[in-house]
Parts: sequence; C-alpha cells; structure tokens
Amino acid sequence: MAKEKKGRVKGALTEKDLGRLKESLLREKQRVLRQGNFTREVMDTPTTTGDLSSHRTHIADQGTENFQREFASQLRSIEARSLREIDEALNRMDQGRYGICEKCGKPIPLARLEVVPYARFCMKCAQQRNTGE
Ligand SMILES: [Zn+2]
Repeated sequence: MAKEKKGRVKGALTEKDLGRLKESLLREKQRVLRQGNFTREVMDTPTTTGDLSSHRTHIADQGTENFQREFASQLRSIEARSLREIDEALNRMDQGRYGICEKCGKPIPLARLEVVPYARFCMKCAQQRNTGE
C-alpha cells in the first residue's frame, strides 16, 4: 500500500494515465466528428451548375466551389483515417494492449501518447516507417 506511488513498472501506464488518455481519445473523436459534420455540409451542397436559380453564379464562384469540395473530400479521408486510428486505440485499451509499440513491442513513452494518444508505434519505429524503413 505504502509503496504504491512509485511502484509502477518502468514505461507501464497507470490506471490514471490510461483514464486520461482515454478521455483525450474520446475528445479527439468528438472533435473529428464535429468537423465531419461541417465537411459533410460542404460536400452535400448541390453544385450550382445547371441549377435554374444559378443565373448569378460566376465562373469564379464555381472555381471556389470546386476547390472547397476538393478540400472537403481531402479532409474527409483524413477524418476517416483519424476516426479509425482513434477507434483502434480504444479497442487496444479494452484489450490491454494499449501503449505498446506494434513493431518492437516496447512501451510507447507516456510523453508521446499525450501528444498522439492513438500512436501505434514508439518514436523510433514511427520514424523508421516515415523514412521508408
Ligand atoms: Zn517500436
């Protein structure tokens, strides 16, 4: 009981850490979902091309619209990926595999998880992946 404070395994996450990280994952998920609503609005706005009420639409407006739609569709794929990463992180948490590098099996430092709560790799492995291994 008395030794509980410092008695944690090096690199292992405490219940408290996990709780906090889970919260930030859920917050991040909410944020992505809210942003998704905005993106969907842009995507679902019908194009004015061919619309009878679009007499006043200038070519410049259409360009802006195309750009917005393209931007929105890029955002959507980023959102979809983020959501998947977040959900997978939450799954790993449930299964007790959270915070372990998927490549080398070492614990991912808490400092990294606090920045990227859905990180699947430790810093070293993530860097190796980015440089094409
Ligand atoms: Zn690793």
